[in-house]
Amino acid sequence: MKRVIVIGGGPAGMQAAVALKAAGLEPVIVERSDALGGKLRDWHNLFPSATPAREVLDGLRKAVEMARVEVLLHTEVEGLTPDGSKPSVEVALAGGHAVQLSGGRKLEAAAVVVASGFDVFDASLKEEYGYRIYDNVFTTVDVERMLNEGGVALADGSAPRRVAFVHCVGSRDEKVNQKHCSKVCCVTAVKQAMEMRALFPEADIYNFYMDIRMFGPGYEELYQRAQQESRVNFIRGRVSEASPTIDGRIQIKAEDTLVGRPMKMSVDMLVLAVGMKAGSSCEKFARTADAALSPNGFLAPADLFSGCVASGVPGVFYAGAATAPKTIGESLAEGSMAACWVVEYLDTLAK
Ligand SMILES: Cc1cc2nc3c(=O)[nH]c(=O)nc-3n(C[C@H](O)[C@H](O)[C@H](O)COP(=O)(O)OP(=O)(O)OC[C@H]3O[C@@H](n4cnc5c(N)ncnc54)[C@H](O)[C@@H]3O)c2cc1C
Ligand code: SF4
Repeated sequence: MKRVIVIGGGPAGMQAAVALKAAGLEPVIVERSDALGGKLRDWHNLFPSATPAREVLDGLRKAVEMARVEVLLHTEVEGLTPDGSKPSVEVALAGGHAVQLSGGRKLEAAAVVVASGFDVFDASLKEEYGYRIYDNVFTTVDVERMLNEGGVALADGSAPRRVAFVHCVGSRDEKVNQKHCSKVCCVTAVKQAMEMRALFPEADIYNFYMDIRMFGPGYEELYQRAQQESRVNFIRGRVSEASPTIDGRIQIKAEDTLVGRPMKMSVDMLVLAVGMKAGSSCEKFARTADAALSPNGFLAPADLFSGCVASGVPGVFYAGAATAPKTIGESLAEGSMAACWVVEYLDTLAK
């Protein structure tokens, strides 16, 4: 059998499917939502280059279409085995693998690439920041949506005069059981602060951070430009609380940890830089395939170095943010890499 099931039609899954097809296999993308694209569908201009997300999305969708990859939309993979039995080398050698789809259906294949991505942290779990309680508290995801819809504004339609970003919302936080650093939220908040400056030239813009983690190519330069050209104020300190003021603004309490002083500030708009948490599918996939989860709930690769797309389960491979917070470039690279591993695995089985 040449069929390979790719679970998830985000950047990692689309890239894996195109590479599998180029290698002569028959990938089937199984996507639970109504379209291909994953989170890329929700973003506006991408860090670090400000490339429109639409451009990257259209390129990937076109590649899937040109390669004539089969796509099943509105279809959720419920488990990595149809009946809860564990995939074994014997089953793989006998020619197959099968996954459980929504509606009780079963789909058979020679191998599976899990590219089911991540979930965005639900900011309302951090009640102290008032998300979904106060009108002008938003998340970085909301800001991407507003930018895509043509503009950022306060709930009454007016322009903010002071905007504050809070980093690490739902990351590096034991209280919400998310101890890991989500990696992309620092650079996203810096990028959005610069976008706010372009939209509101006269506004005061503040970013409250614990550490600034600018790990990627061009990120540190972006951070420098945010300070020097976009006049964004970076304050090292954790915001402890947001509350409404009588004039309809939001008061935030924080401690400036560089000078060791508590501070209060009123802002018009508060933006919470939400983290990446383990996707809702990880737990059920791990359970049904007897695969390992990392302590933060993401799927654990068999090896963090040479085997980062290997699951340790015969015939099952990983790509993208299903295993940890990743950028789009990293997710695409893992999509290609997972396809190579599938080809090598099937070649070995055929020998
Ligand atoms: C606010 C924010 C802004 C970001 N901006 C950028 C940026 O500018 N540049 C950048 O490089 N990165 C950015 N990222 C990171 C980027 O979103 C990820 O790198 C990327 O989405 C990971 O791709 P993926 O394919 O692994 O997962 P996803 O994009 O999460 O796609 C996974 C797909 O799998 C599907 N799926 C899940 N479970 C199942 C199942 N059981 N059955 C069927 N389908 C399933 C989902 O519906 C989804 O379509 C940002 C992240 C955040 C939170
Ligand atoms: S990338 Fe930055 S904002 Fe995101 S969790 Fe890590 S330190 Fe916090």
